[in-house]
Formats: sequence, C-alpha cells, structure tokens
Amino acid sequence: MLNVSPIPAFQDNYIWLITNNNHAVVVDPGAAAPVEQVLAERGLTLEAILITHHHHDHTGGVKALLDQWPNARVYAPAAERLPAPGSIALSDGDNVSLPELGLELEVMSVPGHTLGHIAYYAPPQDQAPQGQPLLFCGDTLFSGGCGRLFEGTPGQMYQSLSRLAALSDDTRVYCTHEYTQANLAFCHAVEPNNPELKKYLQNVAKLRQQGVPTLPSPIGLEKAVNVFLRAHLAGVRAATQAHEGVELIENIDVFAALRRWKDDF
Ligand SMILES: [Zn+2]
Repeated sequence: MLNVSPIPAFQDNYIWLITNNNHAVVVDPGAAAPVEQVLAERGLTLEAILITHHHHDHTGGVKALLDQWPNARVYAPAAERLPAPGSIALSDGDNVSLPELGLELEVMSVPGHTLGHIAYYAPPQDQAPQGQPLLFCGDTLFSGGCGRLFEGTPGQMYQSLSRLAALSDDTRVYCTHEYTQANLAFCHAVEPNNPELKKYLQNVAKLRQQGVPTLPSPIGLEKAVNVFLRAHLAGVRAATQAHEGVELIENIDVFAALRRWKDDF
C-alpha cells in the first residue's frame, strides 16, 4: 500500500515522502539531511526524486541525496535548469513510471510561479490512500492560496490553476509549504461571510495549535475556500474591485488584482 507523509524542512517546507514497503520516492527535497534521517530510521531505499521547479528550497538536497543514492532517478521540468546531470526532463503530458511503488504519474505543465513549473498527478487507483487521486503541485496551488508570480504572468497562473481546479473534487493536494493559516486570513479578508471558509479556518487553527500539518487538502475544499480559485464569482469580484478601486471585467483581471492584494497583505 502506498503511503504519503511530509518531511518538514526549513521554516515551512514539506518534502513529500511516498513509500511502498521499503521503496521510497521524495518530492522537492530542498535539503538532504531530513530525508536521509527518515530513510535511515525507516530502512527505506531511495528510488527516485521528483522536482516541480528549480527553486533552491525544492532542489537543494538533490546532489547530496545522489551522493548517497547514485542509482536514484531524478525527474525534473524540461523547461528549467536540471538539478543534476542525467536528470530525466519532463514536459506536459509525459508519464512517470515508478514501478517500485506501483505508481504511474502524469505530468502537467503549470507555469506561473516559475515558467517551467510542472505538477505530478496520479489518477485514482487501488494503491493510493483511500483510492483518491494525488497531486504534487509544488508552489502552484497552496491550501487557501497560490504561488507568487516570480516568472510567469497572471494569465499563465490563472490557466494553470484552472487546470488543477478541473481535477476531481477528491484529489488530494500535496503542495510544498505550510502557508495555510496565513492564506486563509487573506481569503477571509476577501470573503468574510463564506461559511465553508469559517469552518476551515477553525479546523486549521486547531491543527496548527497541535503542530499538525494541514495538508493534503482536497481540491473540492480548495474550490470552496481558496479565493484564487474563485475569481469568477460575483462576491470575490466585488470585494476585489472595492479594494482595487477600479472595475474588473475579466476573471483574469480579478485574479491578477487578488494576487497583487495578497502580495501586500
Ligand atoms: Zn518556488
């Protein structure tokens, strides 16, 4: 049976560890030491490393992990600087086969945070926790938020998030940062009367008080609370127009204004 668990790193990163028996794959290892520690404690063999984008807090541990595990395969976006020689370069629509885990992943191109950013999607299957689809989306979609636009345009990010929002509601979102509580404070400023959001805020506050990760979260919940997936709704548009002081016609304009608002929030 597949198991997916977070390895905390730095201030608020999660390196996702996917295991089946003693086989392991990690997603976005920004640091090697916390990964090595868990592999040793649990007697796991590192089979592969999945990279979503080139930022150092997602790739910084790759070289040290390869020193220790020279046979581990590294998968990374084709459109960005590869994290190590011999990395397998991936583009939209490619498949990643992880036979050691019994897992097949589909690659989705999701530019915006960076230009070559990719996400890894596993369709529903018997192996997965509760059979649900899995999404490893790096710094594209967060719970209650989305990544900053370091390289891409608002239009690119809006398109990327729309693709992710079209996945089935039970898809589990494994993003890379524990930003949920701060993100929800922003969502609440935009939609103070969203009942689903109020409920989720309370749950998240409880989890964080106990030091428990808020991730993964289902896409269906994100569509109900995350304002960056709700730019098409009249209430979100009205609040954003009021903040911006201009009329916003297109959904993309609402999204861009929300992203600017959050940058200064
Ligand atoms: Zn990043």
